[in-house]
Amino acid sequence: MAIPQQLQLHAPLSGVLMPLDLVPDPVFSSRVIGDGLCIDPASTTLCAPLRGVVSNVQASGHAVSITDENGVQVLMHIGLDTVNLAGKGFTQLVAEGQQVEVGQALIEFDADFVALNARSLLTLMLVVSGEPFTWLGAQTGWVDSGQPLLGLNPVGQAKDEAVLQEVGALYSNPVTLPNLNGLHARPAAVFAQAAKGFSASIFLHKQQERSNAKSLVAIMALQTAFADVVQVSAVGPDAEAAIKTLVELLAAGCGEAVTVTANVAPAPLETSSPKVLRGVCASAGSAYGQVVQIAEQALDVSEWGEGSQVERERLCSALSEAVAALQQMRDNATGDAQAEIFKAHQELLEDPGLLELAHVLIDEGKSAGFAWRAATESTATLFKSLGNALLAERAADLDDVTQRVLKLILGVQDRTLELPEGAILIADQLTPSQTAGLDTRKVLGFATVGGGATSHVAILARASGLPAICGLPVQVLALANGTQVLLDADKGELQLDPDLAAIEQLQVRRKLEQQRQHHELAQASRAACTRDGHHFEVTANIASLAEAEQAMALGGEGVGLLRSEFLYLDRHHAPSHDEQASTYSAIARALGPARNLVVRTLDVGGDKPLAYVPMDSETNPFLGLRGIRLCLDRPQLLRDQFKAILSCAGLARLHIMLPMVAQLAELRLARQLLEEEALALGLTELPKLGIMIEVPAAALMADLFAPEVDFFSIGTNDLTQYTLAMDRDHPRLASQADSFHPSVLRLIASTVKAAHAHGKWVGVCGAMASETLATPLLLGLGVDELSVSVPLIPAVKAAIRTVELVDCQTIAQQVLGLESAEQVRAALRLYHDARVVPSLVLEN
Ligand code: PEP
Ligand code: MG
Repeated sequence: MAIPQQLQLHAPLSGVLMPLDLVPDPVFSSRVIGDGLCIDPASTTLCAPLRGVVSNVQASGHAVSITDENGVQVLMHIGLDTVNLAGKGFTQLVAEGQQVEVGQALIEFDADFVALNARSLLTLMLVVSGEPFTWLGAQTGWVDSGQPLLGLNPVGQAKDEAVLQEVGALYSNPVTLPNLNGLHARPAAVFAQAAKGFSASIFLHKQQERSNAKSLVAIMALQTAFADVVQVSAVGPDAEAAIKTLVELLAAGCGEAVTVTANVAPAPLETSSPKVLRGVCASAGSAYGQVVQIAEQALDVSEWGEGSQVERERLCSALSEAVAALQQMRDNATGDAQAEIFKAHQELLEDPGLLELAHVLIDEGKSAGFAWRAATESTATLFKSLGNALLAERAADLDDVTQRVLKLILGVQDRTLELPEGAILIADQLTPSQTAGLDTRKVLGFATVGGGATSHVAILARASGLPAICGLPVQVLALANGTQVLLDADKGELQLDPDLAAIEQLQVRRKLEQQRQHHELAQASRAACTRDGHHFEVTANIASLAEAEQAMALGGEGVGLLRSEFLYLDRHHAPSHDEQASTYSAIARALGPARNLVVRTLDVGGDKPLAYVPMDSETNPFLGLRGIRLCLDRPQLLRDQFKAILSCAGLARLHIMLPMVAQLAELRLARQLLEEEALALGLTELPKLGIMIEVPAAALMADLFAPEVDFFSIGTNDLTQYTLAMDRDHPRLASQADSFHPSVLRLIASTVKAAHAHGKWVGVCGAMASETLATPLLLGLGVDELSVSVPLIPAVKAAIRTVELVDCQTIAQQVLGLESAEQVRAALRLYHDARVVPSLVLEN
């Protein structure tokens, strides 16, 4: 076969070339449809960028695709949301199936009409068949229509590769499309993306026509419209799952806000939707209540401004109004967690990078609203594309501040939401601003499509003790307000229209739970001794003075993990010595001289970047320069921290702990820096120095580390992530990245053995220590201290009091030989139920 030559794609229009990241529409800027470019047009005839066949022209004339002889497909889309113009302003000059040459006119458009009646005139040219390309010239600035812009190598695929094997194909029930404009570019991209997640060959059928469901262009070529009846067919190993997922997606509008009314698509929701929707637990607990959908108001922002002076002033005054409103929200916040979020939002509003980007656009003639939205959305898209869950969730903060400022620019009043009693709030993503104004007495829980265990809705839910589930399928957004649901966050499930038995079971469980909590709280100050008389230390994981105080009030016997990052994050410069020293000292004083205070040195890096520690971007931040690696790379940062920590020596039993240690050399170098700083301060006695065991290398070499440390603390969160090679924040892996996996347990067992052989103690400070199901297991494995999240101190102490150490040792040995985390959990549950349930029943 002849190797196809390099293909050039030419500018379809004259105008200003812009990076795709700046397109204020995530469906394009996130490249979900395909990579390519954007032109702010100065000419009004869209021309063919390559030679090929017109594979699709949208009926509304705003988009056209061309496919060349090697299967390269290029989509051109004029303007944003122009599908809503229903063809007005566009004149189609070619027909589907027609052969066209480079530069041939395809569509003419009335630029004034489109600019006035659609969101934007920005025009996209995207390589939807996915071939990588190179730029043939500058990526920004003026281009002339016909100028060569991109070069790519066709891979020479068959033109019509997907052939349905009719034999054995499964067909879905018919689905009525709820999208007002049918499956146009945006929903078609979402649908094709979802279909690509399955290995089956999948087709979308409309009457006698059918399209490859994995091809955006093919779906658009079906020319579907509102209320069209379509069907999905699939053949292959995961055909059934594919049909189920895709039908749900179609019925819910493929990511577009749709109203599901009685005569639009009732069948798919009723017949194919399950009674239970699954996500991941973001805040434990359960509740029974009614659905209240929360959706962000759609705002109409015009692209062009009234001159840069006016627009700059508009933006500036909206920003200062927003900062003031956030200050008020900080002052009225219901807790530290909420106040911190609003503080972070204030900082975003003052971010020089965002402002600069917005000003550049204003100077190009854009309106303040358009410029602000483009600046924040492109940054949010960047955050989302970095593959880091934490940063992706910060993108939600950017969306929140975008909306806040836009409303001020446009003079749109926030609608106050009247909540019914017993509301379970459902949303794509709940922003802090949406939750701040809610009457939380009426809210029983949260369920969202986006977000994860570290999202703000999760933080707020945990802070207010409400159950929450994240990562639910988009279908949840189609539930009608008032639908009765049972939110079982512990299982990560939302049950629709639950039966009486399920509700009663939940109520009994809730009552027992309340009695148990009450009992544990009353006993919180008692020591945590097993029934056969062995004392175990239960300490707290904290990140603030307030948490230290709360921990002491709840019976904490010290602090096993002070996450010092809280002093460093969300700010523009490193904390001063005095600020650090006074915070550490205040925390040490709250504990007193008889209690352990374990301060972990700064654990940040590529996954939690600091504005004032510039770093190269990393492909794999979790495997990059984080924790002790970063600190040893910037020794002054570590020296300054050591100096500040040492200033509280004597106020509590001071311990210093190094995160992410993998090599003995790291420990030795850090010890040397610590000794030098202590010497400079004239200290004769060094604090205890230990390391976190959270990298498998350290666990496997614990026998070599043990003689050189005073203690170990096992970080099961990272130890699990690195042992199982599963991202700890990955929503789809959440249930598998489980610290109860026998491989992790074996590493804990060997670490304890090595430490004890050298007379050193071992704590566990990962989230596993806060799970009471793990308590007998960890005690049985020989762990000496459990450092847990503050509200769980009473529960973990109570769990210790119900066991005998000898039983724990037996069960620990048994589970070390099991195959999976599920088996370990099942064995522990049996042990737990035999022990705890009867004792609760007896006490009450
Ligand atoms: C851990 O990894 O288990 C741990 C406690 O550290 P962090 O969760 O702060 O990374
Ligand atoms: Mg860790």
